[in-house]
Amino acid sequence: MSEKQFAPIPAGGHKLPPLRYPYNALEPVIDAKTLEIHHNKHHKAYVDALNKAELALVDARAKNDFGLIKFWEKELAFNGSGHILHSVYWDVMTSPGKGGAPGKYTAYYIDNYFGSFEAFKGQFAAAAKAVEGSGWAVLGCSPSFFRLEVLQCEKHQNLTQWGIIPILVCDVWEHAYYLEYQNERPAYVDAWWQLVNWNAVEARLLSAARGVLPIQSTGE
Ligand code: MN
Repeated sequence: MSEKQFAPIPAGGHKLPPLRYPYNALEPVIDAKTLEIHHNKHHKAYVDALNKAELALVDARAKNDFGLIKFWEKELAFNGSGHILHSVYWDVMTSPGKGGAPGKYTAYYIDNYFGSFEAFKGQFAAAAKAVEGSGWAVLGCSPSFFRLEVLQCEKHQNLTQWGIIPILVCDVWEHAYYLEYQNERPAYVDAWWQLVNWNAVEARLLSAARGVLPIQSTGE
């Protein structure tokens, strides 16, 4: 991991992170067309809108004109959270059946709080299936409580606990599954577990425990 990875990203300087796998790598769980549109159109739009909001606020500060502050702050929250969650989502997936088993620390912290892996999985899946409208299921590290938690997320930014660092996320916006699964979100969530890259989850847990979370892990 290079020093450069942790240099502050300047206002308007966000880039769409490349995927570590080709668009057909997640088939048959997620088809190539869905993955391409999701990454290259939807995620890109969040990156572009985040950059636009940050630059608008640079301009607002320079002019000392905060007439649109409420609008741009909402844009920061929505698009910034969208950029972060999508970056985590790509990183914690791999080809079906190639993701291994939960790592040592992931397994320990899951068992420690949820009682068992099955109990955790039941809650995470139920949370994902029951998100009202568009959103996410999130397994995150809580730096305040020194443990993991499962949260639902509406849109990209609502229903969080402050400080939670996501280490495993499942996108349940319709754009994540609609071409293949139409309205059958539960079928997508049930199939999605085959994609989880537990090595990446473990790496994120360890990064979060150190208080540092690169948006994209180095992929190992
Ligand atoms: Mn999405």
